[in-house]
Amino acid sequence: MQDLLGDDPGKSLGGAGVDRWVSSVCGYCGTGCGVLVGVKDGQAVAVRGNPAHPTNQGKLCLKGIYQWKALHHPERATRPMVRRGTELREAGWPAAMEEVASHMRAALAEGGPDAVGIYHGGQLLLEEYYALHKLAKGFLGTPNIDANTRLCMASAVAGYVRTFGSDGPPGCYEDLDTSHLVFLFGSNPAEMHPQLWRRILRNRQKNAAGLVVADPRLTLPARVADLHLKLRCGTNIPLLYGLLHVLISEGMTDQGYIQRFTDGFSDLAREAAQYPPERVAGLTGVPAGQVVEAARLFGTSPTAVTLFCQGVNQSVQATDAVTLINALHLVTGKVGRPGCAPFSLTGQASSLSMREVGGGGSLPGFRNPANPAHREQVARAWGVEVNLLPAFTRDITAMLEEIEAGRLQVLWVIGTNPAVSLPHQERVRRLLDRVFLVVQDVYYPVETAAFADVFLPGAQWGEKTGTMANSERRVNLVVRAVNPPGEARDDLSIIRELAHRLGAGNLLPWRGAEEVFNEFKDLTRGRPNDMSGISYQRLATVGGLQWPCPAGDHPGTPRLYTGGRFATAEGTAQGFGDFNHPEGKARLWAVPYDPPPEAPDARYPFWLNTGRVIEHYHTRTKTGRVPELNRLAPEAFVELHPADAARLEIAQGELVRVVSRRGQIEVTARITEGVSPGEVFVPFHFGEPEPVAPKRCRAANHLTAAVTDRFSAQPLLKVAACRLEKT
Ligand code: SF4
Repeated sequence: MQDLLGDDPGKSLGGAGVDRWVSSVCGYCGTGCGVLVGVKDGQAVAVRGNPAHPTNQGKLCLKGIYQWKALHHPERATRPMVRRGTELREAGWPAAMEEVASHMRAALAEGGPDAVGIYHGGQLLLEEYYALHKLAKGFLGTPNIDANTRLCMASAVAGYVRTFGSDGPPGCYEDLDTSHLVFLFGSNPAEMHPQLWRRILRNRQKNAAGLVVADPRLTLPARVADLHLKLRCGTNIPLLYGLLHVLISEGMTDQGYIQRFTDGFSDLAREAAQYPPERVAGLTGVPAGQVVEAARLFGTSPTAVTLFCQGVNQSVQATDAVTLINALHLVTGKVGRPGCAPFSLTGQASSLSMREVGGGGSLPGFRNPANPAHREQVARAWGVEVNLLPAFTRDITAMLEEIEAGRLQVLWVIGTNPAVSLPHQERVRRLLDRVFLVVQDVYYPVETAAFADVFLPGAQWGEKTGTMANSERRVNLVVRAVNPPGEARDDLSIIRELAHRLGAGNLLPWRGAEEVFNEFKDLTRGRPNDMSGISYQRLATVGGLQWPCPAGDHPGTPRLYTGGRFATAEGTAQGFGDFNHPEGKARLWAVPYDPPPEAPDARYPFWLNTGRVIEHYHTRTKTGRVPELNRLAPEAFVELHPADAARLEIAQGELVRVVSRRGQIEVTARITEGVSPGEVFVPFHFGEPEPVAPKRCRAANHLTAAVTDRFSAQPLLKVAACRLEKT
């Protein structure tokens, strides 16, 4: 691991004799590291960390260093393709686009706006998201638009909105440098956000910052933590209540802050009183003494940051868990000041941008489509009839149900790979096969394209210019360094051409990405994510700006909610109805604990936990094509405890079958004490080379269930029951 965090590994990995270095931002995780892309003879030949960028000060992790290798891969898609019989055959752009447009027109004529849908990735540029959502909501009028961010941070969004009134991580990375305590709850930044882990380690080294980890697995952070709360899968809620119980019963709360700036404390305290540490120990497996110790560390620490990620967002009652994490900080007054924040880490480079423009069921500027005033504001800005804007949007799980019911006829998938990433793969693939499917991606083959009727080759990171916001709300400029290969086009021009063919050209009139950004930022004026003071010119010179940034000379805002001012008042709030609070106080929610919908039993005796490894990203469409990363992590596996391996007579490296109620996979056994007895872990990155009729399944999502969180509609990808069999 130390090698991954070295001083500047990028220096030793190419870059000699490049023609020019292009300043940009890493296209992988939501950390948003500044990079310099080395270009020689029109090709990217190196990437190194940008020493002037405030996020990473010149450092990069493995994925960032090698990402230039994914640009010029022989499997880059260079020509559109259209299905003829059982085959996709190369076609010109006009023919391919007309194939898409004609099917959309026919579907709209027959089934109305509900007959078309869009499902896109979280690595596009803000400008592309904005164009896509304007086309979908302002012209097609369809509620069927969602992003794969539904799988990773929808619950963080819903939790922030329910507590604070608006989306937006309240803290900043500087808090990791100075906080007295870092609490990692369902987050493993050593593998998922390595440059943030480096900052945490530096804080521990320089300032002796405390580190507490809540995770069912013995991750690297858990190994070096002061305290590891090794909870059972699916028990975040009782553990959080246990911590609140101790904080409240031992008087470690800030009653002045609670009274002035929050609402709902008495209900929360009443619920927390039901969770004394001894009961929590029985529910979670965390010894009562550790629950008390963790609460005391948190309560007595002058400052604390809680970083949370998929261990919360993809687990049982995820939105509720986010509101309880927020509550830990609110009842102790640890919000809106240096070193204090409940901080959601985003997995994808621009997923926060997607949220800002209206993904995840909102409208641009963190507006709510259910709020008539917000709908009116957007309709007026777009010059469209207000009734055209859908009052709600469907998440991807609901869109699959629409396909199953025969109502959704055309699905446009952009930059994401649902034939690996969505739960209950057998059903997903059956439904992808049923709908008229347009796949827009940068590589071919890619698993989802096996079901495509039309394939459109897109440009990727390094080949287009626009903006992306990272986890600390920092808007960065991403700069085109090289041209896309062959006939591949950037997504914005593809979206605009389709809009033109459908008759919506006037709605998307821009000549380039900067004009899109300028239109969008005007829609954020006065909103919680006000970006009206940000311009491409400023971004090119300052290394990113954190919103809100309401004026051209505003320096950006490192922390939200300083002084206890929250976004819950009606009009301001992204929430609508019972989310709002007339005085703008933060909301504390008392939530009941519901046990997981599926738990181990006699037939399926193991907890199944799915997740990531440091070498790969998503479904490996990029990292699987980087030889250095693939060599380090070439194969899917299942982690199981030595005691379970001995009982089942499974040897290290043996091919084993993992079976759930929905499907099965065959992967190699990795025997480790990193998981507890009775629990197994499978990485979700791997798909099958022949997804239509796989010879050997290895995608973790053959096993997972399409059960979703009741507020966020995020699937519970981290909690299922399974069994192991020898093959
Ligand atoms: S930490 Fe994230 S943003 Fe930074 S180099 Fe690694 S993958 Fe890229």
